Amino acid sequence: MMLTLDQVTKTYRTGTLGGGSFTAVDRVSFAAGKGEVVSLIGESGSGKSTIGRMVLGLTPVSSGALTLDGRPVRGGREYYRRVQGVFQDPFSCYNPVFKADRVFAMIRHAYHPRVPAGEWAARVERAVRDVRLDPGAVLGKYPHQLSGGQLQRLLIARALLLDLTFLVADEITSMLDASTRIDVLNLLADLKERGLGVLYITHDLSLGTYLAERTVVLRRGRVVERGDTQRVFGNPRHPYTRTLLASVPRLGAPWTEADPVTECAFHAAGGGGAGALRETEPDHFVACAQLPDCGRNAA
Ligand code: ADP
Ligand code: MG
Repeated sequence: MMLTLDQVTKTYRTGTLGGGSFTAVDRVSFAAGKGEVVSLIGESGSGKSTIGRMVLGLTPVSSGALTLDGRPVRGGREYYRRVQGVFQDPFSCYNPVFKADRVFAMIRHAYHPRVPAGEWAARVERAVRDVRLDPGAVLGKYPHQLSGGQLQRLLIARALLLDLTFLVADEITSMLDASTRIDVLNLLADLKERGLGVLYITHDLSLGTYLAERTVVLRRGRVVERGDTQRVFGNPRHPYTRTLLASVPRLGAPWTEADPVTECAFHAAGGGGAGALRETEPDHFVACAQLPDCGRNAA
């Protein structure tokens, strides 16, 4: 399994007459393989959910190539067997008048109509246990009778009943309390062990970031830095990444301003034009911090 984004761009039409346009995602490239968690981090409005929706085939790519195993992503039933999304607000994903088991019945109807009822019930039970829930305690309940963490896990269980290979997790822990958040992250770690690829979208440096072997830092639709998580956060080269790191509160540590950038890592490594990234060490890419003025400053 390999999900690849190559110079992916999304331009939304804006204005009542559709005359304007806004580039929410600008030439973004990264890839995620089997059992790999990639975290996509950036402040609100940086284009993270747009990338998630494109990966899910819910919104078309304006330019560039988005492929799963070499084939362009277009959505559709066969695609959704393999790729699913879980979102911030688990309540919004459930119809309030359906009990939880109805959600699973709908999956059977849509994806596994030939599976006999008895076998389907056994599969549902296994999936629910896999997300560490007690089937007897959750299946007969309405969404309002379940907690946010339980709904989130049921969504993951639902995804497990498909032939899931890739999960888009968009701010899934933002609305959960600290202990439930850790439970859901442990669950993601289990899924990763089973070989599932995950795009972990987050607006802050949360615990989930540490599950990811790769990190993509997004700012205003552009990748400013990406690569091996340890290298990106251990040796951040872009001022925006440094600011993100400096904004993580540390117990006992006084708040300090990120170090001023004394050299542009991008041009120090011989970087090119806007939108390009430079590999400053193996699997650690950085964009220019000062384009379009950087070259002039350096001269
Ligand atoms: P994030 O998830 O990082 O907060 P989004 O991908 O939701 O960012 O949004 C990125 C930018 O694109 C924002 O400025 C947002 O207002 C804009 N945007 C998102 N969806 C649409 C849309 N359907 N039409 C126009 N602009 C949109
Ligand atoms: Mg979002």
